[in-house]
Order: sequence, then C-alpha cells, then structure tokens
Amino acid sequence: MRAFEYMRAVDVAQAVATVTADPAASYLAGGTTQIDLMKDGVLGPDRLIDITRLPLRGIAHDVGVLRIGALTTMEELAADSTVIERLPIVRQALLLGASTQLRNIATIGGNLLQRTRCRYFRDPTCACNKREPGSGCSALQGFHRMHAILGTSSQCITTHASDLAVALVTLDAIVHVRGRDGERAIPLTDFYVPPGTTPNVENVLAHGELITAIEVPLLPAGTRSHYLKVRDRVSYEFALTSAAVALVVEDGLIREGRVGLGGVATVPWRARGAEGVLRGAPANVETFRAAAEAALVGATAHRDNAFKVELAKRTVVRALETVKEVES
Ligand SMILES: Cc1cc2nc3c(=O)[nH]c(=O)nc-3n(C[C@H](O)[C@H](O)[C@H](O)COP(=O)(O)OP(=O)(O)OC[C@H]3O[C@@H](n4cnc5c(N)ncnc54)[C@H](O)[C@@H]3O)c2cc1C
Ligand code: SF4
Repeated sequence: MRAFEYMRAVDVAQAVATVTADPAASYLAGGTTQIDLMKDGVLGPDRLIDITRLPLRGIAHDVGVLRIGALTTMEELAADSTVIERLPIVRQALLLGASTQLRNIATIGGNLLQRTRCRYFRDPTCACNKREPGSGCSALQGFHRMHAILGTSSQCITTHASDLAVALVTLDAIVHVRGRDGERAIPLTDFYVPPGTTPNVENVLAHGELITAIEVPLLPAGTRSHYLKVRDRVSYEFALTSAAVALVVEDGLIREGRVGLGGVATVPWRARGAEGVLRGAPANVETFRAAAEAALVGATAHRDNAFKVELAKRTVVRALETVKEVES
C-alpha cells in the first residue's frame, strides 16, 4: 500500500475544507471499502481524513421522517425501532448485506459511496474505464456474469453494489451534503450517475462534499414493503438480482406501488414503468408479471448475464407476491 498521511478531523467544517483543498485527499469512515481498495492498489490518496469522530452518528425521529446521521453504522440502523416497524425494507436490505462484523463498522454514508465489485476495476493490471478513463473495459469481452443489464454504456457495464441504496431510492430518500459553499439536499434518485461516456463519475458530489445525513420519508401507514435479494449463496454475497417493493392495497386494488431493482443496473434502479403498471390495478399475479415486464424494458444483456433478465422479472414478481401475502 502506498504511504499516506492520516489526519483525524475535529469538526465538519475543517474536514470539508481540508478535502476540498486537496485533490489527493479522501474521507475515511469505517474503511471497509476505502482501505480494501488502497491495499489492492486501486486507490492511492496522499491524505486520509478520518471523519469517524465527527458528530454525524445517530438517528433522529421526526414526524413522518427518519434522519440518519452519515456515520450511523449499518447495524445501528437495522436495530432502530422505527426501521423495524415502519421501514422493514431498509432493515432487510441492511441485514442481507456484508456480515455482522462489517455492518458494525460500515457506515451509511460509506455504504452509499461504496465502489463497484467488478473484478477488473479491483485489479490494477486490467483495463478499466472507471479506474482509468479511456483505458478500455475488460469486462465487455471478459467474465461478466455479475454485470449490469440496465443503464449500461459501451464504456462500462458494472453494477452498483449497495443493497441499502436500492431500498432508499425506492423510498425517495434525500441525501444531505456539506461542501465548501454550504449545504444542499439531493434526492437519491438524482444522486447517482449512469456510466455513459464518463464511468469514472459515479455521483453528483463535488470533490470534498461530505454526506452529513440521509432523510427517509416513512411509508404511509398501511404500506407493506419487502427487499428480496437473490445471490449465489445465502450469506456474505452481493446480489445477482434484488427487488425493493412497497404496496398499498385497498379493496383488492393497488393504490400505490413502488419498485426498485438491484444487482442488475449501473445505479440503484427505480422502476417507474413498473410502478405505472401497478397503480390502480388488481393486486394479483397477472399484474405483478406485467409490472416485472415493464421493469425490465430496455434491458441489454451480454454473453454471460442474459439469465439476469428473466431472473430479475421473477425477483420482482416474488417480492410483490410476498408483500401481497402479508397484506391479505
Ligand atoms: C466482504 C464485503 C462484503 C460486502 N457485502 C455487501 C453487501 O452484500 N451489500 C452491500 O450493500 N454492501 C456490502 N459491502 C459493502 C459495505 O457495506 C461498504 O463497504 C460499507 O458500507 C462502506 O462504509 P464505510 O463506512 O466502511 O466506508 P469507507 O470505506 O470508509 O468509505 C467508502 C467511500 O465513501 C467515502 N465516504 C465515506 N463516508 C463519507 C461521507 N460521510 N461523505 C463523503 N464521503 C464519504 C470514502 O471516502 C470512500 O470513498 C461489503 C463489503 C465487504 C468488504
Ligand atoms: S465494467 Fe466498468 S468497472 Fe468493470 S472493467 Fe468495465 S469499465 Fe471497469
């Protein structure tokens, strides 16, 4: 690992000023992504600014909204009583990710900013447009069974790895950030940037902007939600496909439906087309299948990952059926 300078930030303003002023500085939270990538030679910051002592940890409950400090750990959020009662989709997404040890140190801000698991990105000897713009994409001709079928470009086809982000994008969460010029709030649906011609740009944050909190509107009373993750083994594995769904059903009709997809897209994916199919339709398997078809419109598969198109549809149907069963 390259030598670097370590500094512990004493307050938010100092942390933001330090990283903003130095293009070779990065934040360090739990370190479960950052340190791994430094050890592998993928990242090589000159300075790491440790933010773990900043007062950004904890969960505040307001009317209809949960405000989660960026340094809250994944385990802390999963154990929150409001999350357990009102946002099971968030708890499920958290507990189906990583391991207990990792979740005890990994933070919510870091989770949203974790980097891709593409093996070529993580191997500095391979061409990768995300790591080194213009170098090529080894995954296109290489092994891409885990890769994306939605939101891809000719430059990059990797998936976004966060389970939590899929749940939060489905819930219309808002990311609060602090930068040199003050604070701003960004809807999570606008936060991530698909690869296009600049796969190295993954989100709308400017260098030095610090995530301070994530605001999650509670689902209306009566809403049922579920996060279903399909993977090669039942623990400690990233998603092949996942679906985050929420339904309000009244008199057999769907008043509101939300669908998010993970494991299949370059960014945490909100399936608005599927939601349009669900709204006002009978809550039955025919509707769920139609919604799943709509969710995968535009999917583009490559040699090894064509199976994901059908698997993702079945994941959506199964997640919706699970919610419906709880409902009736
Ligand atoms: C073996 C393993 C398995 C995993 N499995 C899963 C899984 O199944 N599902 C899943 O969703 N995740 C999984 N993860 C990812 C894990 O959840 C993330 O690594 C973790 O959440 C990152 O949080 P952190 O606090 O450790 O971030 P760090 O590693 O400290 O930081 C990650 C990045 O975010 C930046 N950063 C951190 N906090 C902030 C902030 N507040 N503002 C601005 N920038 C910030 C850092 O500079 C860095 O670039 C896995 C990780 C490992 C190692
Ligand atoms: S899919 Fe993206 S991350 Fe993977 S090698 Fe290609 S450019 Fe790099």
